[in-house]
Amino acid sequence: MTLEALTNIPFELEDAAILKTVHVAANSPDGQEGRALIAKARHIGRPKALYREVFIEAKGDETVTIEGVTFTSRMLRANLDKVERVFPFIATCGCEMDTATLPAGDFLAEFWWDAIKAVLLQCATKRLDAHLKQRFALEKTASMSPGSGDATVWPIEQQRELFRLLGEVQAQIGVELTDSFLMKPNKTISGLVFPTAVDFRSCQVCRREACPARSAAFDPNLWEPHRHG
Ligand code: SF4
Repeated sequence: MTLEALTNIPFELEDAAILKTVHVAANSPDGQEGRALIAKARHIGRPKALYREVFIEAKGDETVTIEGVTFTSRMLRANLDKVERVFPFIATCGCEMDTATLPAGDFLAEFWWDAIKAVLLQCATKRLDAHLKQRFALEKTASMSPGSGDATVWPIEQQRELFRLLGEVQAQIGVELTDSFLMKPNKTISGLVFPTAVDFRSCQVCRREACPARSAAFDPNLWEPHRHG
């Protein structure tokens, strides 16, 4: 499946909630500055996500191979033991947030801006999760990200493989992978979403022919209404 991008993600930025996370009183001078930044973010924020639907080709002792790309992680391999279909994804606050001009040398403003970006990222991940569940009839999902947790769980270097599997990430949503395997913008998450329980409904909207774990036939009538979901 080609890359699917979600680029029109609705979001809300609530002054009170954001100021609380950065420990700023709403009626203080800092609160005013914070509110001005939040208003700016409402204008330029464009949270985004993208994903692909892909199928696992092979599993080794500690490896999982998808479309010729091999990931090495014992935990990933264990989590995907009964899984045949996964969704590599990226969710981001949106590269537009990095184009904003903040007051020069104002470290607090930078800190607050980062907090706003984190809220936008949260909107993108929630939207992606809801979209995947609805479109692919997934009941429960989990995800893993290269580099999260202990370095040995899933080494961050495998961002390279993940980006290879996804394809034109930068062209589609402006997220860049740096030489140190971090992503720009900084409030961006990448990983693999996978179902933790597969029931027959998700097989009905899955086109993997000859899947060893299929529990119901593909139903084109159910799939089509999901196309633009
Ligand atoms: S046919 Fe069912 S078990 Fe197989 S990959 Fe699709 S959803 Fe998963």
